Amino acid sequence: MSAKIKKLVWIFGLALIAANVFLIFGCKHQSERTLPIVITNIPVKKIQKSEEIPVANSNLVQSNPTKNDLNKSEFSSAALRNTALKQNLGWAFGGKSQKGWYLYHPLICRLIGIETEADNNDFAEALARWQKSVGLPPHGILDEATLAVIVTMWQSNRLKKRGEAQPNELQIGSIADFYDVSRPDELRQVERETYAAYKKMIMAAIADKSLNLADNGKDELAPGEKFLKIVSAFRSKNYQAQLRIASPNSGRAGLAVNSPHFTGRALDIYVGGEPVSTQDGNRLVQINTPVYRWLVKNAGKFGFKPYFYEPWHWEYAPE
Ligand SMILES: [Zn+2]
Repeated sequence: MSAKIKKLVWIFGLALIAANVFLIFGCKHQSERTLPIVITNIPVKKIQKSEEIPVANSNLVQSNPTKNDLNKSEFSSAALRNTALKQNLGWAFGGKSQKGWYLYHPLICRLIGIETEADNNDFAEALARWQKSVGLPPHGILDEATLAVIVTMWQSNRLKKRGEAQPNELQIGSIADFYDVSRPDELRQVERETYAAYKKMIMAAIADKSLNLADNGKDELAPGEKFLKIVSAFRSKNYQAQLRIASPNSGRAGLAVNSPHFTGRALDIYVGGEPVSTQDGNRLVQINTPVYRWLVKNAGKFGFKPYFYEPWHWEYAPE
């Protein structure tokens, strides 16, 4: 091979290498440039999650994360704090000291728009979004200050007027709807609109086969079915006073001087365990029953608002 041809081969080889280098680096550069700049600054995972999780404030779904947003390890440490606080947070309600917020976990999940365990990072992340939406520091930790705001919100959704119902506002509920099959007529009175809403809600619960409720074939619960039956509805001021005399040491809100049951719009509904006992162990049984979980998700559609502290107590207070 002559020196001239050798030189040509060398030049050709160098040109090939140069072309490859350009292709490799040129393309990489191109693909980076075509990516939206926003992706390089925002964790992709977070964007996908915000779109998947229904949150209380839909505006937040569209809003971009800001400097306030936590990173993954900060959410992990918030989740660790939540794991401890759900059992141990000391707070007070109704003149009694309370421990933890695990009994309110289903209602909290409903409020912050997620369905997951409290020790999960996703819970801390959803809580942080909610905290931000209500002007709280978005640290993702369910501390005493956050719980106080949550409780205030729940309480504000309850019946405002607690005057005694007039006789013409009440009707006697069917014995088929009551937990105690021997409950007398005067103790089965319910405010009319409340009763109609309750009937609709029961129809929907029966139709939801995952609850496995026994029905009588007429859109009512079967005689042998206990879940979702009415334990107590309208209570007159006189009747309530008699109950207080009968059990003077009862601290139950059910025997309150200013009871929402006077209105006929408050229903105690059977959700499991002892029907109306506030013992923590009893409430833990109740909040884990499928009917209670169902009420948390669906009662609002029928105008019923929870009293967070008593899983059985629901008030008809449509928007
Ligand atoms: Zn009640």
